[in-house]
Amino acid sequence: MDEQAEVGRKKVRNGELMNNRMKPENGAAQCQGCGTCCRRGGPTLHLDDINLAERGIIGVGELVTIRRNEPAYNPVRGKVLPSASEFIKIKGRGNTWSCLFFAEEGNCCAVYRDRPLECRLLFCRDTGPLTEVIGEHLLTRRALLADDDPVLDLLERHEEECSYGPVNDLLAGGEKVRDDIEARLTAQVGRDLAVRDCFLRTYPKRGAEELFLFGRPLFLVLAPHGFRLVEDNSRISLVQSAS
Ligand code: SF4
Ligand code: SF4
Repeated sequence: MDEQAEVGRKKVRNGELMNNRMKPENGAAQCQGCGTCCRRGGPTLHLDDINLAERGIIGVGELVTIRRNEPAYNPVRGKVLPSASEFIKIKGRGNTWSCLFFAEEGNCCAVYRDRPLECRLLFCRDTGPLTEVIGEHLLTRRALLADDDPVLDLLERHEEECSYGPVNDLLAGGEKVRDDIEARLTAQVGRDLAVRDCFLRTYPKRGAEELFLFGRPLFLVLAPHGFRLVEDNSRISLVQSAS
């Protein structure tokens, strides 16, 4: 993640530092440029934003995919739910969701002139325009990858072997799976890590794309459910904290 943070910092150093956020010109309430919205998380990308990738404003190494059925915060429902479809966001900085392009110094956006659709629509005192586009015409991984990209085979394998359906079933299983939930989720986590490992060994120069191609590692997604990854003599297991 540090590598991506450095990309953001470079853009700021290269003169793209701009006053943050939109400024409504109708004399009504105006954005104060406080940066709170950027700290809460970067935007989800829409088809309208594909030109930003095509022009190299935003690289796939600066993106993270939230996969179909992955537990994610739903801004309309105001809670964490399995995502109805795949979507792509700008990565967070470090271990936070604070947008990678947000510079604390000066509350600035490093890509202000070319900020994504949601950033152009968002105004915290009138969220109507943003709400209208949420979930609509979302950008997908396939739209950003060439049809002959050799990594597509691994992407397909990952979707087949590591989809979120079985994971969500286990999490919702309650008493029925209580006895072996750790073992069964460990198997799921192992499959997820195996695909990532294969990707990193096969395409060592594309490591920065991992979160875009395969989303967040499953063991990290499971952490809020009280699971942590333990490694012992190269064997991994998922352990759930006593609730
Ligand atoms: S839209 Fe609201 S939260 Fe975002 S920078 Fe402007 S005033 Fe702050
Ligand atoms: S791209 Fe810019 S405006 Fe949009 S959330 Fe990130 S820092 Fe804020």
